[in-house]
Amino acid sequence: MYPKLSLYIDGQFKSGEGRREQDVVNPATDEVIGRLPHATPADLDEALAAAQRAFESWRKTSPLERSKLLRKVAALARERAPDIGHGITLDQGKPLAEAVAEVNVCAEHAEWHAEECRRIYGRVIPARLDGVRQLVLREPIGVCAAFSPWNFPFNQALRKVTAALGAGCTIVIKGPEDAPSAVVALAQLFHDAGLPSGCLNVVWGVPHEVSEHLIKSPIVRKISFTGSVPVGKQLAALAGSLMKRCTMELGGHAPVIVCDDADIEAAADLLVPFKFRNAGQVCISPTRFYVQEGAYDRFVARFLAKLEGVKVGDGLAPDTRMGPLAQARRVTAVASFVEDAQQRGASILAGGGPLPGAGNFFSPTLIADLPEDSRLMTEEPFGPVAGLLRFKTLDEVLKRANSLPFGLAAYAFTGGTRNAHALAGGLQAGLVSINHFGLALAETPFGGIKDSGYGSEGGAETFDGYLNTKFVTQMS
Ligand code: NAD
Repeated sequence: MYPKLSLYIDGQFKSGEGRREQDVVNPATDEVIGRLPHATPADLDEALAAAQRAFESWRKTSPLERSKLLRKVAALARERAPDIGHGITLDQGKPLAEAVAEVNVCAEHAEWHAEECRRIYGRVIPARLDGVRQLVLREPIGVCAAFSPWNFPFNQALRKVTAALGAGCTIVIKGPEDAPSAVVALAQLFHDAGLPSGCLNVVWGVPHEVSEHLIKSPIVRKISFTGSVPVGKQLAALAGSLMKRCTMELGGHAPVIVCDDADIEAAADLLVPFKFRNAGQVCISPTRFYVQEGAYDRFVARFLAKLEGVKVGDGLAPDTRMGPLAQARRVTAVASFVEDAQQRGASILAGGGPLPGAGNFFSPTLIADLPEDSRLMTEEPFGPVAGLLRFKTLDEVLKRANSLPFGLAAYAFTGGTRNAHALAGGLQAGLVSINHFGLALAETPFGGIKDSGYGSEGGAETFDGYLNTKFVTQMS
């Protein structure tokens, strides 16, 4: 059963009632499984007004109270993970185990925010004059507008909501219209945990109409967006013209550097499931594989052998390791990368195109011998396609890895400490993972540099984007 979809405004779930609606489609079967109501301009204004009213009291709640609420949310998320995960598989397509894991990981994020919000400290600065006290206070920024994407529909929304609420802000969030069930379930969690009305509002609609309406509203003080670089730049430009703070988690094009001295087989074994997780629709997905000459043939042989175990199918089938792409438009987009590579004389070592029949299925694809300026090596593929190139020296590969405007994640495999230091220091990315995959944990900061955006979600930095710094000097 696919859940009923609704808006959530000022503590009320609102559905159809004459509003414009859009179909929600199962990407594994092409079947329409739900109808999503769009917010009217009046709904958006109601959500903004509710968030503004709620801010006046929520900002004054004690961190302890906010912490208790976030802990309840974590407990409810764990309890409901199987149902929420089922909804995610139906509308987003990822295998059920991945969808349930996404929700369980979010319980950890909620707990982390529950713990950290009790440590939003200011400080006392020693004064120059007797009788003067100098204080640095950190205060919630106000009403936030957030836009979360479809690839991790529960995770990306929850991280924004827990950061805003933990800091004492209130929030209006537009979730992904393509995969909306997770954000409706999220609203239900907070509702059932006892969050006061208006603190969290969920709206849907035509993305640019909703984002313009919310960002232009004088009520909104902060924008948080996860999605593509072009859309992020548009939203940041609008927010900038109105002097509003932003956190931007945008796309990436993660290089993977496999050195001759690495454990080559172990690297390939780790990389295959990581590359094809969520059908490659992951902003930190490894996409550009640079393998040192001496390791190249062994790496390719092991990668291809491991690839055979990536069973593609409906995410509800227990043996599925890779589901469909989330929308039909992704199939066209991903196929165009492969066509470009083929036209430039590349070798397709595995996969190479959409699978016949219903659903947005695409075969896991590995492409070699492609020019460095091919689309696959320069634009974010956001799909189950990996490009493979050789390199000779570390200096040379660092230049190549850093040559794109992206700077989100980067990976490296090496057995040498000297190489590991050079890679950790030399890779231009907000997230660098060497000899394993250790990114996106609740206690570690997550965010990019360059065109991949700015600001961190998670870690001790998680509330920075949601707080103002106020200096108070006071003479007795
Ligand atoms: P897209 O650029 O149309 O949309 C990306 C996301 O932004 C979607 O969730 C969409 O609903 C939202 N969006 C689009 N226009 C918006 C606007 N004006 N205001 C507010 N939100 C808006 O692309 P798409 O086909 O949905 O997704 C593919 C691309 O999106 C990929 O190439 C990838 O770069 C990017 N993406 C990145 C992430 C991430 O985690 N960083 C997540 C999802 C999508």
